[in-house]
Amino acid sequence: MTRGRSPLPSVDEVLSSNSGQEAVERHGRTAARNAVRRTLENWRAAIASPGFAPVAAEQAAAASLALLAQSDEPRLRRVFNLTGTILHTNLGRAVLAERAIEAVIGAMRHPAALEFDLDGGGRGERDDAVRDLIGDLTGAEDACIVNNNAAAVLLVLNTLSKGREAIVSRGELIEIGGSFRMPELMARAGAKLVEIGTTNRTHAKDYEAALGPRTGLILKVHTSNYTIQGFTKEVPAKELSRIARAASVPLVDDLGSGTLVDLAEFGLKREPTVQQAIADGADIVTFSGDKLLGGPQAGIIAGRKDLVRACAKNPLKRALRLDKLRLAALEATLQLYRHPEKLAASLPTLSFFTRPVGELSELAERIRGCLSAVLGPAWRVEAVDCGSQIGSGALPLETIKSVGVAMTPVDRKTAGRKLAELAAAFRRLPIPVVGHTKDDSLIFDLRCLDDEAKFTAQLAVLNAAGLPR
Ligand SMILES: *Cc1c(COP(=O)(O)O)cnc(C)c1O
Repeated sequence: MTRGRSPLPSVDEVLSSNSGQEAVERHGRTAARNAVRRTLENWRAAIASPGFAPVAAEQAAAASLALLAQSDEPRLRRVFNLTGTILHTNLGRAVLAERAIEAVIGAMRHPAALEFDLDGGGRGERDDAVRDLIGDLTGAEDACIVNNNAAAVLLVLNTLSKGREAIVSRGELIEIGGSFRMPELMARAGAKLVEIGTTNRTHAKDYEAALGPRTGLILKVHTSNYTIQGFTKEVPAKELSRIARAASVPLVDDLGSGTLVDLAEFGLKREPTVQQAIADGADIVTFSGDKLLGGPQAGIIAGRKDLVRACAKNPLKRALRLDKLRLAALEATLQLYRHPEKLAASLPTLSFFTRPVGELSELAERIRGCLSAVLGPAWRVEAVDCGSQIGSGALPLETIKSVGVAMTPVDRKTAGRKLAELAAAFRRLPIPVVGHTKDDSLIFDLRCLDDEAKFTAQLAVLNAAGLPR
């Protein structure tokens, strides 16, 4: 190597070039300096390689600018959810209704009477916005709202069974995914788990035998993501409520998804409704805001007034409470349930569930044409029947008839690699597209495709995104 001038400019030289100054102007001095350092480090690593040409300050600044532009993009990107799972936890679950979106914007832009009583002029309670609404819709005496359903279960267990026993059937000791495992959550809530029955069969007498002076509550948990079939027995909610009442302990029903409408009316299989759980005698029902309800992430605790009040007064409530944005979204979403007959049009979650297969077939034919033209002869592109899942722990074995587009490499020898590359190219699009692979195909389930024009418009840049041939 020749001695003398370094083949790389100094950080200051880069920053004082034209593009360097532009980088400082647009992104701030600290970020610009860091980006220039990183860019120069990359080049420094390549100095020893043959054919390395000295780098000009302007050239390094331009590269730094590109790096900065990239880091200016939001990390929480919009995506097309074509996975076939409608309420996809990793893709943010429910898409909110227009009315909820407007409510959130209002709550962001202006002060809101969050904990302010407009009638009396004094202090109000945060959850007042939705307490009556939930009562009207579910028949519950009172309600309290927290961060999510996991928080709802935590708060209820901590309030009603800290230092006491919580009785649960072995058939209902669920793991929801991530780290929501019922036994571990109970331990953190300070409740002592008393497991009863067996995995497949739990009887009334099992509950009765476990009841004692240290019992804090009986917990019933909706087995959201599995079913136990065959030689099985569980105690129906109504009977469980009689057992709990006779022993003067509360019955808590963790419904998980918890819908407010009979899904059978929307052509799906029935899921237990919150109304039914309350009518069957649960003292407390917990459910999610962003699963079947179709609202923002939230956990709803509904039921007997004295018990709900005790939860609301627990100091943990402060740590688990909802902010004004989600409260606004939840209120607006719940209001839609006053018109259940309009839900299929007003609530995206339900309109995705009920989208007619005929409409999806026509959509698939159009999308198939576009994709086929872009992908060229190396790929076979077909419209295929598929089954959408609800997701997020609702109706785990049910699928809704749907239509998708399957992309299969013609050359089977390199199929695995090509499929991975194609899926990656779709994920690199301006609005990343997420599908799923099955056998030798990448499949886009079109049930949740809500913007056909945007989807097809960006296919033009798929080649630039590194399409495998
Ligand atoms: C989903 C689920 C939870 C957790 O709810 P999040 O809203 O995800 O916190 C708890 N219990 C059951 C039965 C569930 O299905």
